[in-house]
Amino acid sequence: MGKINKEDILELLKEYDKENITIATLGSHTSLHILNGAKEEGFRTAIVCEKGREIPYQRFDVADEYIMVDKFSDIVNDDVQEKLRSMNVIVIPHGSFVAYAGLDRIEDDFLVPMFGNRDILRWEAERDLERKLLTEGNVRIPYKYSDPSEIDRAVMVKFPGARGGRGYFVASSTEEFNQKIEAMKERGWLEDKDVANAHIEEYVAGCNYCIHYFYSALNDEVEVLGMDTRYESSIDGFVRMPAKDQLDVSLSPSYVVTGNHPAVIRESLLTQVFDIGDKLVESAKELVKPGLNGPFCMQTLVNDDLEVICFEISARSDGGTNTFMGGSPYSYLKYGEGMSMGRRVAREIKTAIKDDKLEIILT
Ligand code: AMP
Repeated sequence: MGKINKEDILELLKEYDKENITIATLGSHTSLHILNGAKEEGFRTAIVCEKGREIPYQRFDVADEYIMVDKFSDIVNDDVQEKLRSMNVIVIPHGSFVAYAGLDRIEDDFLVPMFGNRDILRWEAERDLERKLLTEGNVRIPYKYSDPSEIDRAVMVKFPGARGGRGYFVASSTEEFNQKIEAMKERGWLEDKDVANAHIEEYVAGCNYCIHYFYSALNDEVEVLGMDTRYESSIDGFVRMPAKDQLDVSLSPSYVVTGNHPAVIRESLLTQVFDIGDKLVESAKELVKPGLNGPFCMQTLVNDDLEVICFEISARSDGGTNTFMGGSPYSYLKYGEGMSMGRRVAREIKTAIKDDKLEIILT
């Protein structure tokens, strides 16, 4: 079977009972507010849940239906897909859905209507494509070095794949780069094949803001709904040590996200915040038609020249949206109380059903 295209999904949609849509997702990542928000907007909800991982969903009671699977990746199995379609399901993708289902299966085999743009998920996952989206949109990103021999100031070194920042390191010379590569290999965090794929970029000494946008394809409008900063292990524990002890212990910090803090940004920076969101939406329209649709996130660092520099994006519900399940200061400004990202998604689907425009937002 080739790639699933929009026509295949619209064909399925003809069989759907649009008055009885169920909103579903994989039980992980941001599923609590996706399903809670769907209920708030009056939808029936379903969760595809790995056996042994059902507790939070039961305790918070977010799902009307449980589809229990042995492992998360079973969400793409034929029987599960069949069940989802029989419940008139629209799936909301999130980071774990993409990681467990796998991009190939989502693009080629997952024949269930999804909210968003199925084709853009690969663009956020592959660093070169992600960079293209940002550079074509003229968004300020960290300077990239093409070879370790060019390192002339502090750089951040990253490796491909969703490894939660494990193995990332900071270096300020070619020698230090080589030493740290060896140390990471000894620890088993890197293999030789990773080293050739090292991505070396300018270290931005600044504060982290992950900005949660919603692009409404129905209204052609970019909304800012919330912001967070990451709480990362071991770096955030490491910096609680007095500086002299940090120098004494030879720990190499890692950047594994363990949680998030809600944040607000200095008000005068909001012009840049909207500007980079608008720019990304425009470049996505050109590069991955029809472009972004629904939640996306720009992970940024703000330096002391007050430049907002974007080092990463998500083109679907991002983990940091969990910081505003009951609304954020920004979603309050736009919608009043209680607007989570999940609820905003459900609101868009509800509007599309009412106006008979589901074909615009599904893929
Ligand atoms: P990532 O896996 O790309 O989200 O990066 C993990 C963490 O590394 C981020 O949350 C930032 O704290 C930090 N980071 C990433 N890129 C840079 C950079 N260019 N300069 C400084 N810190 C960075």
